[in-house]
Amino acid sequence: MRSPDVARRKSFAVKPDEPVASFALVSTIMPRGVSGHPQTYRLALTVALVAALITAIFGLLPIAVLIAAFAIPIVYIVYVYDVNQWEDQPISVTALAFVLTGLLAAGFLGLLKFFGLLDAPMPTSDFGGLALGGPSVSGILVWALLVPVVGEIIRQIGPVILASRPAFDDLMDGLTFGIISGVAFSTADTLVRHWPMLTGGFVGVSDPGTWASLIFLEGFVKPLIIGTATGIACAEFSGLGAGYDGFTGRYVRGLVEAIAANIAYAAGIYLLGFLADPTLRIMLQIAWALVVLAVLIIRVRNVLHHGLMEAALEASAREGVGASSGVGQGRLDFCPACEMPLLQDSQFCTACGTNTLVGSHVRPGEARELAGVGAAPAAAGSAVGTATSTPGSEQAATATSEAQEPEREVNPRDAFFDEEEGR
Ligand SMILES: [Zn+2]
Repeated sequence: MRSPDVARRKSFAVKPDEPVASFALVSTIMPRGVSGHPQTYRLALTVALVAALITAIFGLLPIAVLIAAFAIPIVYIVYVYDVNQWEDQPISVTALAFVLTGLLAAGFLGLLKFFGLLDAPMPTSDFGGLALGGPSVSGILVWALLVPVVGEIIRQIGPVILASRPAFDDLMDGLTFGIISGVAFSTADTLVRHWPMLTGGFVGVSDPGTWASLIFLEGFVKPLIIGTATGIACAEFSGLGAGYDGFTGRYVRGLVEAIAANIAYAAGIYLLGFLADPTLRIMLQIAWALVVLAVLIIRVRNVLHHGLMEAALEASAREGVGASSGVGQGRLDFCPACEMPLLQDSQFCTACGTNTLVGSHVRPGEARELAGVGAAPAAAGSAVGTATSTPGSEQAATATSEAQEPEREVNPRDAFFDEEEGR
């Protein structure tokens, strides 16, 4: 029964047969679809990708750009409706997170485009040793600083308004709002940048491979980069525990991470855009974008893993497990160390193994600071557990780990060792 991976640090809570550190896309951005029919979304994305590439190869650039701009947002919004994550309110979610961000982004990027600040880098051409064009200070400032920073602020507005509502205060809600907002921005970005192509009609394409690669980069890698980056920041805004965390240090860190990812992506694309060989240029741009995306996906999976453990523990704590009746709709207690919900009458946090008898193994400063008002009832509840039902709570923990995936066997020794390791 005692798994060596006590905190399930390696086995992804969304899909236990996958490790947390993995690049699996669908289970990362569409966690709630995994138990139902992940193949549907995978198939929809594949069909859209193939359609976009084929139309690009045959020179139907307006259609290719449209598919690239809308494929991921449409699949994602269908997913949100499909899993019915917010009961009857998906329309307000879609409006605030998608339409608001899309309109603000279109306005902002359209303005930059109007003033010629968004033009693609002109590849350095070598005419008798005379280099034409090259990275410029203003180009770098706009591409790699202005657009990532202002863009991220635009992308935060809708999700933050939504996540401040009591009905949407879970970490998973914040993550999903962020992804919707991010892909909306990406759609506006693709449409604004390639507007001339949309209105240009059928054009003979001299270099179909390059076009297909560009469509893949802009339509399928870019939205995922922007979406997951914004999702990380919004997930930190929602945070663990009761209610939303709001503008905390963790949120600032998430925001900085999101902006940094966008700067890394945009700066790479801008600088590589000056390579003269179009094939080499687009291949290196895609390779760079995939590296940025890989880092983001691993980050999101970690955030999500904790979000799901929180949801599962809250369900267990409310419904009750084993001998415990659960708190029902009453107030939950949260672990002073990791902010995960505590099962009633348990002496140890089911997620991190911290002893919830405040004052014993818990690192003093951190525990009291984080625990706040919740500390006293938690200690009281645990004290009752100690007096009456130590075997009961042990049994409760075992029952939970069978019923719920994201669980941890609690064991005083593990908790002790975790403390010793300076976890
Ligand atoms: Zn804990």
